[in-house]
Amino acid sequence: MSDPVVYLNGEFMPLAEAKIPVLDRGFIFGDGIYEVIPVYAKRLFRLDEHLDRLDNSLGATRIPNPYPESEWKKILSQIVMESETEDQSIYLQITRGVAKRDHAFPEKIVPTVFMMSNPLIVTSEEMFNQGVAAITLDDIRWQYCNIKAITLLPNILLRQTAIDEGAQEAILIRGDEVTEGSASNIFIVIDGIIKTPPKSGRLLPGVTRDLIVELAKNNGLKWVEANLSRTELEAADEIWLTSSTKEIMPIVKLNNDVVGNGKPGSITRQMYQIFQTYKAELKCDVTD
Ligand code: PMP
Repeated sequence: MSDPVVYLNGEFMPLAEAKIPVLDRGFIFGDGIYEVIPVYAKRLFRLDEHLDRLDNSLGATRIPNPYPESEWKKILSQIVMESETEDQSIYLQITRGVAKRDHAFPEKIVPTVFMMSNPLIVTSEEMFNQGVAAITLDDIRWQYCNIKAITLLPNILLRQTAIDEGAQEAILIRGDEVTEGSASNIFIVIDGIIKTPPKSGRLLPGVTRDLIVELAKNNGLKWVEANLSRTELEAADEIWLTSSTKEIMPIVKLNNDVVGNGKPGSITRQMYQIFQTYKAELKCDVTD
């Protein structure tokens, strides 16, 4: 596989030449935020929504947004065009910058901006039809999960615990409230109604999540945004997870129990078809 297209602080360069000083606060403190933007057929998917969330994460961490929206769009479209692949995953990271190690914000500091494009490998139809297993774990994260922070150690530990137990994803529960997956949002279906937890500091406002809610609305599916308990999760007829790189991933086994009949349910399939149709019709002009 060829190297990703890489952008660092205003310049495109080969991956091996992209270097940052060890005193970068991203390296020292995990003091930074990120985005992952999918690209289909060289078109940036839901770009405005991703740039809005980027701006919110920067605002919440008090890192100045290094570029105006028009500049982001220009650089991002350049990255997309430089890459050979049609479907891409753009990783974008901004850290507070480089300074002598001290917890307090340094007075004069320039944010570090790093981006790379890799081929996007979404859930294949075969994998969708199979579904995956998930386990439930205590949500050990902080109270600002709405910020897309690079500080992902809890998420990493939770995901690894799931993998160690033979599952693909951890579904997180805080108290009795199901929040999200370690790197995904959650939807369940009970009695024909799609249910997902409302946005709060306890979960990341997924761009895919918002699109699924929008598509459910526009296609006359029954849906509700409401707190989700462990009991409801365990009683769900269908469960699926969403993210920009996985799209819609059915959960067919939860802990030691089979979900529904062990295959993706009918509403999950319907949603998947609606999503694929939306994707196929997508037009996103990055220059507007
Ligand atoms: N929650 C968490 C914790 C995530 O890391 C992700 C993926 N980055 C998501 C939800 C899904 O967000 P999106 O649909 O924007 O990829």
